[in-house]
Amino acid sequence: MVKVMCLGEAMIELAPASDDNYKQGIAGDTLNMAVYLKRLNSTADVSYVTAVGEDKMSDKLRNFLVNESLNTDLCFQLPQYMPGLYMISIDNSGERSFSYWRDNSAAKRVISAIKQADAIEQLKQADYLFYSGISLAVIQQQDLDDFWSMLEELRAQGVKIAFDPNFRAALWQGRDYQAQYRKALACCDLLLPGIEDLDAIFGCADIESVKTFLQPFNCPEVIVKNGPASVYSAINGEYQEHKVTPVQNVVDTTSAGDSFNGSFLAARLKGKSIADSVQFAAKTAGTVIQHKGAIIPLENLQKLD
Ligand code: ADP
Repeated sequence: MVKVMCLGEAMIELAPASDDNYKQGIAGDTLNMAVYLKRLNSTADVSYVTAVGEDKMSDKLRNFLVNESLNTDLCFQLPQYMPGLYMISIDNSGERSFSYWRDNSAAKRVISAIKQADAIEQLKQADYLFYSGISLAVIQQQDLDDFWSMLEELRAQGVKIAFDPNFRAALWQGRDYQAQYRKALACCDLLLPGIEDLDAIFGCADIESVKTFLQPFNCPEVIVKNGPASVYSAINGEYQEHKVTPVQNVVDTTSAGDSFNGSFLAARLKGKSIADSVQFAAKTAGTVIQHKGAIIPLENLQKLD
């Protein structure tokens, strides 16, 4: 059974319901990706690698993973911490903004939890380890060296490292994010960037500057997302363009990139070609953005043959 481990932070979400009432959910970019991957390729063993506490919300989060048939063997419990929380506010013009309480979250400590539990051997069993720029940004500063050594060790063992740069400037305040991203790009087998993120991080505003910028990193497989515009794929630096059919009725773009990543890998792991996997992923993401919320009901998704 093919094994994919997705490393990151899932948080408690409070979304406006009515008046001053909020609806509670569970969300996170890497979690969304893991859920779509497992739902669309149930034969894969998909783990969510994170840390939670021992409180009721942590139990809820873990149950969410179990209900989605995600493997929780590497969902560590740190009794002195809790999950992070964020709250969505919507202003009079419909613009959404986010407030976060995550500084003290358990997931920030996942690298020391892996180390303490001596779990690196388990991670070495993976075919893919997937993480994002958000996973990277929330790792505690003092754990970053261990994180990079861990990735090198996994890679040396044959684990493929998949990375979506997902950039959130607010998580990097005062820190040299470019240096960390360069390390990520240098240690990556499957890179899944959005152009907007590469522009915000490195000032690559179009596909030509992306190609030039990424070339020295020699990432074997690159899939560049660009909203309703084309997707570009590159195997060993040879780029190919894939057309996307723009969606007219966009309802909510939350999780467009995450659902793309999950469905792309789901298709690749079923042996589909890059072109077919991109088409399938674009179709999934195009469906997801026509519904509210990050994770849409399974019956609305097209299945893989
Ligand atoms: P991210 O969420 O990472 O910024 P994008 O906005 O590039 O990612 O969207 C990811 C994928 O979702 C795109 O590659 C595309 O396949 C699909 N997508 C996004 N917006 C649209 C749209 N308006 N019409 C059709 N497909 C879209």
